[in-house]
Amino acid sequence: MNLAENLAEVISNIERAAKKTGRNLEDIQLIAVTKTVDVDVIEEAINLKLTNLGENKPQEIKRKYEVLDKENLNWHMIGHLQTNKVKYIIDKVCLIHSLDRLSLAEELQKKALEKNIYVNALVQVNVSGEESKSGLEPDNVKAFLEDIQKYDRIKIKGLMTMAPYKPNSEEVRYVFRGLKKLSDELKEINYENVEMKYLSMGMTNDYEIAIEEGSNMVRIGTALFGARNYKNNEEV
Ligand SMILES: *Cc1c(COP(=O)(O)O)cnc(C)c1O
Repeated sequence: MNLAENLAEVISNIERAAKKTGRNLEDIQLIAVTKTVDVDVIEEAINLKLTNLGENKPQEIKRKYEVLDKENLNWHMIGHLQTNKVKYIIDKVCLIHSLDRLSLAEELQKKALEKNIYVNALVQVNVSGEESKSGLEPDNVKAFLEDIQKYDRIKIKGLMTMAPYKPNSEEVRYVFRGLKKLSDELKEINYENVEMKYLSMGMTNDYEIAIEEGSNMVRIGTALFGARNYKNNEEV
């Protein structure tokens, strides 16, 4: 694994896809997904200016947050978030990508109030309809945004989705197109505390297609760090 080389390739792919839609590299935020990646490798990533880091387990964010540079890193919670784990991460992350239910919103509001902070979140949407994926159905997002208006400590910054894995990533283009369309529709409505600023979509297998369809935040693990080794970390 040569992280610098992998990163150079990912960056050039991001740039090429961004240009196709009249955007630049700087318009796309790259989140390095560091789940199962050891702290010494993460430090190498940080030296390469990868400062937006994504994890899908609250305990991992907490553990790595404690030992890594606190000033310059932005942690992203990208996986399913159990309400009883909110307390571990709420004051450590810059963005929660997986807000998908009212009970979680309620807990975020409660813990944010306790700590006197605001919490930034994306609403996770299950565009593909795959049963194994979490997220709201696209048709329910509007009502959800209305319901969470009462939680004034939550700032919605956009939407997130995960596409199903397909060897031919062209087959998931419709997923990204669907999320972009939903985001554009929601932009027309002026909710308080809701901004459709970020579209978090695209992973190793499909980030170029996601960017072509309007993504401005990609979450990439394997293409940077190589295949994950779950020997010491069970997959979620
Ligand atoms: C693991 C994970 C990623 C990164 O996946 P890769 O295929 O390794 O790039 C992105 N998003 C979420 C939610 C993940 O859990």
